[in-house]
Amino acid sequence: STSMASEKEAALAAIPPDSDSPTIFDKIINKEIPSTVVYEDDKVLAFRDINPQAPVHILIIPKVRDGLTGISKAEERHFDILGRLLYTAKLVAKQEGLAEGYRVVINDGPQGCQSVYHIHVHVIGGRQLNWPPG
Ligand code: IMP
Repeated sequence: STSMASEKEAALAAIPPDSDSPTIFDKIINKEIPSTVVYEDDKVLAFRDINPQAPVHILIIPKVRDGLTGISKAEERHFDILGRLLYTAKLVAKQEGLAEGYRVVINDGPQGCQSVYHIHVHVIGGRQLNWPPG
C-alpha cells in the first residue's frame, strides 16, 4: 500500500486477481527490500506489516507462490502449505505473547480488500479487536 491510499483504495487499485506477475513479496522473500522477519523456515516467511492495524500485525507467506495468488486459487496440491501457513500463525501469535487472543485473516479479491496477489495470512492482535470487520 502507499502512504496516501487507504487499504481499500490500495486493494481496488491492485492488479487483477488472476494475474501471475511477481509482487512486492518476492522482493521481501529475496531480501531485496528490508522487512522485519519474526519467523522463517524453508517453506514460509513471517514479517511485520509495514502499515500495522494493531500493536501486533504480522504477515505470513509461502516462499514459493505456486499459483496461490489468493485463497480463492487454492487447489489440492496446496493442502500442505495452507496448513503450514495457519500453523505458523499460531507459532507467531504465541511468540508475540498474544495470550488474550488475536485474529487470523486472509483477504481475497477486491471486495475482500486484497492488495497483494501472493497469498498471505494476517495475524493481528495486541488490542481488543472489533467484530464484524468493516
Ligand atoms: P492485503 O490487503 O490483505 O492484500 O494485505 C497486504 C498487506 O501487505 C497490507 O497490510 C500492507 O500494509 C502490507 N504490505 C505491503 N507492502 C509491504 C511491505 O513492503 N512490507 C510489509 N508489509 C507490506
